Amino acid sequence: MVAGDHVRIYEVGPRDGLQNESRPVATAEKLHYINLLESAGLREIEATSFVSARAIPQLADADDVMAKLDHAPGVRYPVLVPNSRGMDRAEAAGADALAVFTAASDAFTQQNIGMSVAESLAVFGTVLARASSLGWWRRAYVSTAFGCPYTGRVEPSRAVEVGLQLLELGADEVCFGDTIGVAVPSQVRELTRQAVSAGIPLARTAYHFHDTRGTGLANVVAGLDAGVRCFDASSGGTGGCPYAPGAAGNLATEDLVYLLDGLGYEHGARLEGVLEAARFIAGVLGKPLATKVGQAGGWDPATGAAIGRA
Ligand code: MG
Repeated sequence: MVAGDHVRIYEVGPRDGLQNESRPVATAEKLHYINLLESAGLREIEATSFVSARAIPQLADADDVMAKLDHAPGVRYPVLVPNSRGMDRAEAAGADALAVFTAASDAFTQQNIGMSVAESLAVFGTVLARASSLGWWRRAYVSTAFGCPYTGRVEPSRAVEVGLQLLELGADEVCFGDTIGVAVPSQVRELTRQAVSAGIPLARTAYHFHDTRGTGLANVVAGLDAGVRCFDASSGGTGGCPYAPGAAGNLATEDLVYLLDGLGYEHGARLEGVLEAARFIAGVLGKPLATKVGQAGGWDPATGAAIGRA
């Protein structure tokens, strides 16, 4: 590990976190949450999703959230866009960065978006081309990059194949997602190796790990060692796991920040600020803050005192 290296933390709490929580969150609370994340120094915050309100009622206020965001300078607010209709809405709401969402497994995309992977790529080709002509930043998710809840193991070559197609369609960044939280570090190393050798640059690669089985941070370390410098996380660990009720879901931002701080990576976020945001959203959702660092706080090596504990 190289001290001083810069890592991008891509915060997914307001979108991926909240869309998987059953309790509805008011628009004003979402905006306050996003403000807290900005204040914590996070510079990439996936703000909402322009899917249909019928599909995801938790994010039905996407237009309002985007219109009322403070659009702080230097902060990127990508929004999830599923199709051309979503693109119309995102554009009208003032977005300038987007994410599209497909997977390495047809069974998963059929269940989630009602299309095969190939069909989804055709839809996203149009969306990415339009976003490109508007000068937007463009990310593409490859979900189920390690395993599918319906068909089991996913070969890394398959995830890489989909990732390459997304780059060819105009994505700036490919984010491989461990949607059901089954990956271990050796698989992260292998997927990264295959991605690089297929022509996906490290600088355009990100990982979205879930901590479902406790391997989230270990997988981050494997990604760092392989040269990846962008990781997704959700403050407060919101998001759960839709395929394992009660289990942990998204890797928690506070746990990631603690790890990166200790390893000497520069990332721009302040642990205390992230914990404040995490505590706020946990309170809104009526849940205890159950993440590791949320419970124990950070740790000041000079004094041995906890940092940011409630
Ligand atoms: Mg997730």
